[in-house]
Amino acid sequence: MIEKLKPCPFCGGEDISLVRICNVNNDFYYVTCCNCGIFTVDYDKEWDSIKAWNRRAGE
Ligand SMILES: [Zn+2]
Repeated sequence: MIEKLKPCPFCGGEDISLVRICNVNNDFYYVTCCNCGIFTVDYDKEWDSIKAWNRRAGE
């Protein structure tokens, strides 16, 4: 169900991490490159952060 995260579009790194930030009522998610530190904005849905990352990587 979880789509594979593409390599970083900026540095080409493959050490990509989906980060979950836990809150009381609603968690949120972002994707970050552990190599260069670039990250997406925060998303309510895990899937949205993955899509956003892969869309950026596909450009
Ligand atoms: Zn990177």
